[in-house]
Amino acid sequence: LVRFDKVTKRFGGVTVLDQLDFSVSTGKHVTLIGPSGSGKTTILRLLMTLVRPDEGTIKVDGDYLTHEERGGKLVKAGEKHVREVRKKIGMVFQQFNLFPNMKVLRNVTEAPVHVLGMPKDEAEQRARELIELVGLSEHLDKYPSQLSGGQQQRVAIARALAMRPQVLLLDEVTSALDPELVAGVLDVLRDIAHTTDITMLVVTHEMSFARDISDAVLMFDQGKIVESGTPDKMFSEPEHDRTREFLSTVL
Ligand code: ATP
Repeated sequence: LVRFDKVTKRFGGVTVLDQLDFSVSTGKHVTLIGPSGSGKTTILRLLMTLVRPDEGTIKVDGDYLTHEERGGKLVKAGEKHVREVRKKIGMVFQQFNLFPNMKVLRNVTEAPVHVLGMPKDEAEQRARELIELVGLSEHLDKYPSQLSGGQQQRVAIARALAMRPQVLLLDEVTSALDPELVAGVLDVLRDIAHTTDITMLVVTHEMSFARDISDAVLMFDQGKIVESGTPDKMFSEPEHDRTREFLSTVL
């Protein structure tokens, strides 16, 4: 469903991702681990087209994300094409970025109505289901400032799912939370991982969560994948020194 082909990304003179190849099949959950600065967030930002690759291509559900085929040639895609492909992807950030002036229900219906053109009734019904899924049915009429950080992050998860993405990107979604709020958010995500068929790409430092939900774990260092495998293999019998070293700092 997602395929990176020889993707290179540089910032200034620094190569942050180096000829990166990897793919994620439909319905699979893949966790990216590795030291700070190894390029994990850049991968998610590339998928959101917040940054563009310098070299290589990214495909989502069979379509090139930032390229188009024209007359048998691969050329840079127009904005309209990029927007269409990007609709298949939803993201939840470390900072929840809710609309502060909108109540919970409206936060979740806003994009489906205005971006997807979904009828308001349908969007509201779906939003109520998703808000129930994240355990916030009693808070529909509150503003984000009236909720805890963990509750706000659960609204952000519902909001991302309301766009019916095929791929959900989660970027350290619990790292801005007070410790006692982390478990509630991870429980919601575990539930989504185990009960839906959504494809997930996850950057997290919560290793037991990664172990629970991942089909595969990719270990990054200096913009390359140094090792990949099932969570059992990666966490119990890592092959590379870099992976062992990294895990010893987070486990
Ligand atoms: P962390 O766990 O700290 O979030 P990461 O593995 O997600 O790290 P990235 O955020 O992808 O790493 O960053 C990789 C490198 O690219 C870092 O050295 C970072 O400073 C640099 N970088 C990222 N975005 C930009 C940018 N917009 N401009 C310049 N440098 C950037």
